[in-house]
Amino acid sequence: MEGGTLRIGALTRHSEVEASPVVAQHAPLLTQAAPHIGHRAIRNLGTFGGALAYADPAAEWPACAVALDATLVIAGAKGERRVKAADFFQGLYTTAIQPGELLKACEIPVKAEGVRQDFSELSRRHGDYAVAGLAARARVSGRALGDIRLVFLSLGDRPVRAVKAEAALQGGAVDDARPAAADAALRAELDPFEDLTHSVAAKKQLAATLMRRAVARLIEETR
Ligand SMILES: Cc1cc2nc3c(=O)[nH]c(=O)nc-3n(C[C@H](O)[C@H](O)[C@H](O)COP(=O)(O)OP(=O)(O)OC[C@H]3O[C@@H](n4cnc5c(N)ncnc54)[C@H](O)[C@@H]3O)c2cc1C
Repeated sequence: MEGGTLRIGALTRHSEVEASPVVAQHAPLLTQAAPHIGHRAIRNLGTFGGALAYADPAAEWPACAVALDATLVIAGAKGERRVKAADFFQGLYTTAIQPGELLKACEIPVKAEGVRQDFSELSRRHGDYAVAGLAARARVSGRALGDIRLVFLSLGDRPVRAVKAEAALQGGAVDDARPAAADAALRAELDPFEDLTHSVAAKKQLAATLMRRAVARLIEETR
């Protein structure tokens, strides 16, 4: 921790992120997402930086990094540079890292008062890569959501932020009309790939289900 920033070094194992009380307090989205990464043996070996640098669009950490507005610290012979997560992921297994550079760390703004975070995904079996997943965060005031970020994994060539659905959910209390408008906006803006097991329509349906559940959990008063 440094000021209002949580810094996770590139060599940190998934399991270390999962078990960290500091992460649980300041970036609970990561604590929620970690158990979805493969199985225990995978999480004991794989690294936070390795998963970010690999940029698999089905991986959990890249979507979380975008949802948390993280900054990636890249080191090279000329020194360090910082790139926002939204600009770091540039396509299928493609990042802003240039030849001769390494990812050194990830800097995450700590969770502010009133902000809630929620991670969920749908996979065929636990431990499989997600068919669809959602990293969500929002400032919650009663039943109103602000500064919302909905970032999907497995639905494009990189983490996909659903900006139109985010806009539809903001601006007042979440009543019946807002989720319905967000559902329509989400289905219109997503452009997932069909694969061997799921059609485009099925993936949009799963994404809409994840969004509806995430919104319900975010505004749940007991959390
Ligand atoms: C069976 C299995 C199931 C898995 N399931 C999941 C899952 O559900 N979700 C998920 O997110 N992941 C999953 N993974 C991936 C796993 O979590 C690892 O993160 C991933 O394999 C990368 O491994 P690594 O961290 O050891 O990086 P490496 O294998 O060492 O590196 C991966 C790539 O990134 C580059 N690289 C690594 N670190 C850096 C760095 N600091 N700077 C620049 N480039 C770097 C390497 O050169 C390489 O090209 C799974 C893996 C396996 C084998």
